[in-house]
Amino acid sequence: MHQKLLSIIVPVYNEQEVIDETFRRLSEVFKDYFMKVEYIFINDGSKDNTYFKLGQIAKNNPEVRIINFARNFGHQIAITAGMDYAKGDAVVIIDADLQDPPEVILQMVEKWQEGYEVVYGKRLQREGETFFKKFTAKMFYRFLDRMTDVKLPVDVGDFRLIDRKVCDAMKGLPERSRYVRGLVSWVGFKQTSVEYKREKRFAGETKYPLKKMIKLAGDGIFSFSYKPLKLATFTGMIISAFSFIYLIVVLVQKFIKNDVASGWASSMAVSLFFNGVMLIVLGIMGEYVGRIYEEVKARPLYIIGELIGFPDNNDEEKDNKNKKVN
Ligand code: UDP
Ligand code: MG
Repeated sequence: MHQKLLSIIVPVYNEQEVIDETFRRLSEVFKDYFMKVEYIFINDGSKDNTYFKLGQIAKNNPEVRIINFARNFGHQIAITAGMDYAKGDAVVIIDADLQDPPEVILQMVEKWQEGYEVVYGKRLQREGETFFKKFTAKMFYRFLDRMTDVKLPVDVGDFRLIDRKVCDAMKGLPERSRYVRGLVSWVGFKQTSVEYKREKRFAGETKYPLKKMIKLAGDGIFSFSYKPLKLATFTGMIISAFSFIYLIVVLVQKFIKNDVASGWASSMAVSLFFNGVMLIVLGIMGEYVGRIYEEVKARPLYIIGELIGFPDNNDEEKDNKNKKVN
């Protein structure tokens, strides 16, 4: 039987302070391992020295592959590219900042050998993250769980092992608003978890500013659920009902009691409130329309600037060189 291959996917964005240590820790874990291991680093348009450092690593280690994006496409897209290029019988997704301890992968592989097809890491504790981050993350996972029809495990990030079958199934999902952990749940298969303690970032700072967190949350909610639309309809109905009652009150005041007040404050309040509601509902519609627009354009998910260390790729290069000589 051929030796099984494990692909380790690491999305990297401006991680010059940690990348060497990350690779060192990973290769330590998989020294003399019973599986073959390939490392796929996706350089997501880093603006620091990450590109150079990754190049050095790839030069000295034949099992390292690098996908260089032409610009920053975002964490979820980087993971997607890694999965597209991974050759392994199992694929592991792990952050570059050592918040997810590489040693946990060994437990994941054990579960995989027991027959599970997705093994996700469940965060028991989160170290060295701000109260705001932990609080928003906690709220988000619970909120998302209520909003969506797919069962999404809570307190679970992208750190996980997935079987080749699952990886192939996910390659067939062409959508652009990528919420990878949601897609993994959506495809199904036999899933289980291993628990771990999320460590402090080894160095550097988070590459997920509030703006990116909101985008990820939006992708999670709007691409897995129609509930916001239903909520909009529901709000509209409730408000219409109240408006109708109030309309009757006003008519009674006008025609029966003949008591017409000047009513500036109340009409302002009503008008402001309704305009607010209307804009929110429009915004919700806009989210979906915008997503439809993005999908319809059908642009590729990412553009690759350069591939380094891929076996077939090297052959191609040689071919090209040969052609030139001829
Ligand atoms: N990342 C990426 N592209 C981005 C932002 C982040 O590839 O646009 C990578 C980053 O290098 C890291 C992982 O995604 O490996 C998670 O990011 P980070 O640790 O900053 O997020 P946090 O752990 O703070 O949520
Ligand atoms: Mg992190």
